[in-house]
Parts: sequence; structure tokens; C-alpha cells
Amino acid sequence: MARRKKVYEGKAKILYEGPEPGTLVQYFKDDATAFNAEKRATIEGKGVLNNRLSEFFMTGLNTIGVPTHFIKRINMREQLIRAVEIIPLEVVVRNVAAGSIAKRLGIEEGTPLPRPIIEFYFKDDALGDPLVAEEHILAFGWATQQDLDDMVSLGLRVNDFLSGLFLGVGIKLVDFKIEIGRIWDGDYMRLIVADEISPDSCRLWDIETGQKLDKDVFRRDLGDLADAYTEVARRLGVMPQREPGPTKPTLIN
Ligand code: UDP
Repeated sequence: MARRKKVYEGKAKILYEGPEPGTLVQYFKDDATAFNAEKRATIEGKGVLNNRLSEFFMTGLNTIGVPTHFIKRINMREQLIRAVEIIPLEVVVRNVAAGSIAKRLGIEEGTPLPRPIIEFYFKDDALGDPLVAEEHILAFGWATQQDLDDMVSLGLRVNDFLSGLFLGVGIKLVDFKIEIGRIWDGDYMRLIVADEISPDSCRLWDIETGQKLDKDVFRRDLGDLADAYTEVARRLGVMPQREPGPTKPTLIN
């Protein structure tokens, strides 16, 4: 049997050639990195959880008419996706000040923002993904004004959808990052949500206790990352089924 072709390997995922032209297989690794890959670890089960969680969010988005690259899950760690041309910008949407915005602007973490704030970061590991203004994006041709308008609109729709979903299970969506890709339908180009949506790319705080249920658990050494992600999956009803284990003996009078 021929070995399938690896198209790209990133920090947390691998992309393989898909079965049809225009498709790829996205494989979720257990590797976790932070601070531009200065901190690394392997967290058993993370890839399985993120595969399922990303499937759950992307399927929901597809259902409400927000286009995504997700086609179907193949197995525990892999999903079939549409191949896109990734726009070299990370789109961050924030509802509450945390992380880099809190630091950069001297805002206390946890301060609600007056409205969702959208930021763009230039995807370049060597530069540490710097924050960029629309001026830079347009001047350097990373995206057009129409792309930017579409990216803001996608970001806000994803934010509304995810915020509601998490609110329903007692979690506050503090901020998140998405990546967006171009696809062509005949002569028409469209932008769709790509990459992944998972606790690796969101900040998620328990509404009651403020407990962090996202990658900050790893970044800030706050406990077991897989436990936090499992809790998110459990609350959302993703992967509720357990492997059949030893059953308790039934007492008969
Ligand atoms: N984020 C991400 N990948 C990155 C940078 C940020 O997924 O390369 C996510 C991060 O998990 C958070 C949001 O984007 O949910 C905002 O991150 P921030 O700018 O505060 O940076 P950080 O504090 O994570 O360095």
C-alpha cells in the first residue's frame, strides 16, 4: 500500500493529501506548545479531544450557515477537510481582556470589553506573530479590504455562536483565534473558517468559579490540561460515551 503524502506539519496538527482533489486529512497530535514553541509537552489524549471538539464547533457553524473547511470526522484523530489557501493572518476576537491585550494596554485580566474587539496578527513564527493594523495588511497585500470585511463578519458570527454555546454550559468565552482560508467555486472566491476551533485556541473560564478550562492551564502551569479539555467536552455533551468498563456487581436480595 502506498504511503500517503504529508503536505504540512505544524505544532499541533499534520495535514495529509486527501482522497479527492481539493480535500486534505487533518491529523490532531498530542503535542502542546506555548510562547512561540519555547514551552513544549506531549499531553496524552489532547489530539483526540481537539478532533472531537473542533468537529462539534465546525459542524454547528456549518449548520447555521457559517462556512467552514470541515467535511467529516474520519477517526479518533483525523478529519476530512476542504483544502484552502490560508490567509496569513490570525483573527483574534475578544470579549473580555486577557492575555496579550491585558498586558499591552495595562487592562486588568477579566475586565469585560465594551464590545467585541477584533485583532489581526501576521502569521510568522520567526517574528512571533506580530499584531498588525489594517494599514499593514492592505499595504503589504496580505488581504484585500473585501477580505477584511468578510473576516470581521466571520469572526463576529463565530463569536456569537460560540459565546451562546458556552454560556449554555456555564463557560465564558473570553477570547479565541480563528484562521480563514480562500476557496474557489468556479470563478467565485469565498472565505471560510479553517484550521481548528478547540480549547487550544480559545480562552474559556467557568462562569461560577473563574476556573480556566483552556490552554492557559498549560501556559501557566495551572493543572492537568487533558482534564480541563475533558471537562469542556463533557459539558458540551461531546464524547459522552465511555469505553465499556468493568460493571459493578448487582446485589440480589
Ligand atoms: N491564540 C492562538 N494562537 C496564537 C496566539 C493566540 O490560538 O498563536 C489564541 C489564544 O489561545 C487566546 C487568543 O488567541 O485564546 C488571544 O491570545 P493573546 O493575543 O492574548 O495571546 P497569548 O496571551 O495567548 O500569548
